[in-house]
Amino acid sequence: MTKQEKGKVIILVAPSGGGKSTMAQRVLEAFDSVKFSVSATTRSPREGEKQGREYYFLTPEEFQERVDRGDFLEWEEFYNGIRYGTLRPDVERLRGEGYHVLLDIEVLGATNIKKIYRNQALAIFLKPPSLQVLRQRLADRGTETEKTLQARLERAEKELAYEDRFDVVIVNDELERAWEELRDVIKQFIGR
Ligand code: ADP
Ligand code: 5GP
Repeated sequence: MTKQEKGKVIILVAPSGGGKSTMAQRVLEAFDSVKFSVSATTRSPREGEKQGREYYFLTPEEFQERVDRGDFLEWEEFYNGIRYGTLRPDVERLRGEGYHVLLDIEVLGATNIKKIYRNQALAIFLKPPSLQVLRQRLADRGTETEKTLQARLERAEKELAYEDRFDVVIVNDELERAWEELRDVIKQFIGR
């Protein structure tokens, strides 16, 4: 890829607990030409999360200011009034530098990004083997209260109905197997 060529957009979607963060980390380690687009959110940081690394953690007022300024390519309310959005300046700067940009976003945001970038974007859906397995993985991750776990599972059930909207569906059953499939799909899309 020459530096004059704009990068492509890789959209990784899964219901909460479906393996996006795990897979995103592997993608970034495996491909130097791919950079992560850090989204903005109004949720609180989890233990170990850093401002500007996993997310830009904003107050609802700061988030609204950026909405009003037109800084988001898309944004959605995810659950319990918590908002998440993809920052246009960050994505465009990285693409302009010739990097492919990795987005970890939910279903509706993914559909909107796909409308903007069309064949320059690949929308990948990571599907859990079952809702029971998903519940177990989320519970084992230890990041949720009973209330947020329930809200995330309810949302997950709805999101699973949208798999037809995606370019590629990968079942995240056995981690190494699913990773190899994802790696090959991305290699083919970015052409290396
Ligand atoms: P997401 O970012 O989509 O919410 P995570 O990547 O945090 O999901 O994965 C949720 C939990 O499930 C994590 O604790 C992760 O280590 C675990 N996990 C992810 N993929 C697998 C897999 N294929 N098999 C077993 N555990 C997995
Ligand atoms: P979490 O709180 O688990 O980090 O993320 C919750 C959900 O918000 C996940 O499905 C994640 O992919 C999604 N998300 C993260 N950033 C964005 C974004 O910029 N836009 C949209 N639409 N969803 C996002």
